Amino acid sequence: MTGAAPFAVVSARGARRWEHGHPWIYRSDVAERPDAPAGIVPARDARGKPLGWALWSPKSEISLRLLTRDPGARIDAEWWRAAIGAAIDRRRPLRDAANAYRLVHGEGDGLPSLVCDRYDRWLVVQFMSAGLEAARGQVVDALRALVAPAGILARNDVSLRDKEGLPRAVELLHGEVPREIEVVEHGVRYLAAPWDGQKTGAFLDQRENRARIGAVARGRALDCFSYHGSFALHLARRADHVLALDSSAPALERARENAARNGLANVEFVEANAFDFLKSAERERRRFDTIVLDPPAFAKTKSALAAGLRGYKEVNLRAMRLLAPGGALFTASCSFHLTRPLFLEMLQAAAADSGRRLALREVVGQPLDHPEILTIPETGYIKGAIVEAVD
Ligand code: SAH
Repeated sequence: MTGAAPFAVVSARGARRWEHGHPWIYRSDVAERPDAPAGIVPARDARGKPLGWALWSPKSEISLRLLTRDPGARIDAEWWRAAIGAAIDRRRPLRDAANAYRLVHGEGDGLPSLVCDRYDRWLVVQFMSAGLEAARGQVVDALRALVAPAGILARNDVSLRDKEGLPRAVELLHGEVPREIEVVEHGVRYLAAPWDGQKTGAFLDQRENRARIGAVARGRALDCFSYHGSFALHLARRADHVLALDSSAPALERARENAARNGLANVEFVEANAFDFLKSAERERRRFDTIVLDPPAFAKTKSALAAGLRGYKEVNLRAMRLLAPGGALFTASCSFHLTRPLFLEMLQAAAADSGRRLALREVVGQPLDHPEILTIPETGYIKGAIVEAVD
């Protein structure tokens, strides 16, 4: 029902969701839709009690995304500057470790549907709701005031925008942004591709995990879904030899350039399907001291979970068999639907079938710049573990 008022009326169930720390209200929990275009609207409960301010997306199943529970707040330029500024301040500890990291992780930073990644002097943003799109000018102004970037690029070419009734586009919003930007993370250099690379140009979410496994890498190493080689480069600093494997030739070309950029001559590049490679390596009784499995999401939807789990189990099981005694495996999943308990269960099942004795050394999650909020499961997607072959 569309009410005649410029505010939203939220059902009791919707109001409870906000109380319990989740910012989304679905279409079915909007008792009266605001008579307003996409943008920022006040919300009330059925008794008329003000609940705060939310982003309003008339076309989306996620109708309202909470910005603040303070009904007296004014969502103006100053509000955006303070909220984005607070998110940026939380990243302070990363400044010395890297020149590329996420400044705003959407719901994880109380800024629903907004992503902003910093690559050196440039920013890449994503506006993923119609309500937020209406505030684009203020968001860009806030970022310019806070960061003074040389350029801001919008990577709004994401499928989520379809659900909001928004067009997909890659757009320059301010200044200039180069095709390639050099990222330095924990002493390793690689090129990010903000205009056409995956996500906003690189996988920033595995930064600490790369350093983590890099610190214990040795001997013969294997990086199975290497993309631009970011894990392989970290491994190559300590291992004798690294095999960087990917099914994409252009990705490996980048990886090769990145190895040269770091003066690393001990990385070999192999274009292959990881499933086939692992199978034949097992047949040939090859052994690796360090293995990394950072595959793409095998379970992109809930219905793909069963098939995805089989894929995860297969690559993990084979990698476990390839570990030399004392060898270490870093394994990860970025499938949101594969929850942490399911991920650990999958690892146990793979270990059971591997015939090896494996110690779980570390279970890891997301880095500081990708906060996973306990009451908002959607903010978390990365699970990882380091497993060591005991015998
Ligand atoms: N580890 C990378 C990100 C990996 S993205 C990083 O930290 O930057 C996933 C990569 O897996 C992509 O480069 C994709 O080309 C590759 N890929 C997808 N399916 C594959 C398969 N079956 N075998 C090998 N590589 C695959």
